[in-house]
Amino acid sequence: MSQKLASIRGMNDILPEQSSLWQWLEVRIQSVLDRYGYQEIRMPIVEHTELFKRSIGEVTDIVEKEMYTFNDRNGDSLTLRPEGTASCVRACEQHGLLYNQVQRLWYVGPMFRHERPQAGRYRQFHQIGVETFGMAGPDIDAEIILLTARLWRELGLSSKVRLELNSLGSSEDRARYREALVAYLSERIDQLDDDSKRRLERNPLRVLDSKDVGTRAALKDAPVLRDFLGDDAKAHFDGLCAALDQAGVAYQLNPALVRGLDYYGKTVFEWITDDLGAQGTVCAGGRYDGLVEQLGGRATPAVGFAMGLERLVLLLEQQRPELRPQADIYVIAPDEKTAGLLLSEALRDALPELKIQSHCGAGGLKAQMKKADKSGARFALILAEQEIAKGVVGIKPLRGNGEQQEVAQAALADWLATQFASGE
Ligand code: ATP
Ligand code: MG
Repeated sequence: MSQKLASIRGMNDILPEQSSLWQWLEVRIQSVLDRYGYQEIRMPIVEHTELFKRSIGEVTDIVEKEMYTFNDRNGDSLTLRPEGTASCVRACEQHGLLYNQVQRLWYVGPMFRHERPQAGRYRQFHQIGVETFGMAGPDIDAEIILLTARLWRELGLSSKVRLELNSLGSSEDRARYREALVAYLSERIDQLDDDSKRRLERNPLRVLDSKDVGTRAALKDAPVLRDFLGDDAKAHFDGLCAALDQAGVAYQLNPALVRGLDYYGKTVFEWITDDLGAQGTVCAGGRYDGLVEQLGGRATPAVGFAMGLERLVLLLEQQRPELRPQADIYVIAPDEKTAGLLLSEALRDALPELKIQSHCGAGGLKAQMKKADKSGARFALILAEQEIAKGVVGIKPLRGNGEQQEVAQAALADWLATQFASGE
């Protein structure tokens, strides 16, 4: 007997009963992006491995242990994208979108990381990301944060998320800080976990990110990056904070926020919830002025973020927003199937906003009514022999306690339009 095949661990199906919440979420995010004048870009999900190594950084969790990398039939090393920023920069460079232009872009799609699957952490997960190019000042940093704050309001999540903010300074600032941090940690090397010891040599700032208790204790009096910021980074950060203050967006400064990718400088931020345990970051981003040049383009200021859709869906499931039912109207024609199809078609012409489901397949009137009820529709329309003969349609309200009634076929579309215009 052949064994049943199952999906790969950490790579999930999104089933029909879940997909309406996903769509609800995606539509709202895309509408906000649209209203800010951001344009969609679609990149492939596979890229040359080199792209991610050169952008995300060799000594990062993603590149060291999380990438899905394989050789294709030509022997080229390819990688399923673990994030979107690198691909987006590659695409913009390749198609000349960055030369003397400003870009405000977004993308949505699956990302792949070989992590330990748990609630809120998967091996295939989905992000909506935003990347902006060509704007160096703190105004655009503030804009993308205001955009996310508006999004939480529209999703009803404002009370569940808080904003943490930090500045990583310029690359020179970070170089000076790195020296001080290495000097400090070298004196306490025995207290560090093995990962941090290794990072101390190759990527010392990542030690700040460690969750190891011993390392955290050793970091207690470590030098703070904020004290190493130069005038430019300081002015940039002050500008951002002032804009957020004026706009009434609350934030907490978090000097330990360094983010797991190498390309960030100056602004970094995370929106965090306390309702998803250790997987609390729902949206993370920052400025990466050096990345375009690092990937072979001209120096181009850039700032962006990505949000994890699974984590937002988990939050929304706690919230249970009102979703549209599968159908608004369920059409039943037990004696003459084609009459039901044609009535449905005519209603779809007349009422394009409504969802109309027509009963197909077998089942007596009672079974069909059950299906109608399950569809979530407000009305079942019944078109049996006797209604056809009279030129009417039977209307049975499925929500609330209205009586069944008959409406002339010619007046049906108007009658339904009035019902749905007046709401529930
Ligand atoms: P974490 O610290 O949780 O591992 P990260 O810093 O690796 O997150 P980013 O690379 O900044 O995450 O990705 C942006 C967002 O994408 C995260 O804030 C999170 O919401 C989501 N995300 C990242 N990795 C996963 C994953 N494995 N499963 C589900 N969502 C994820
Ligand atoms: Mg991670």
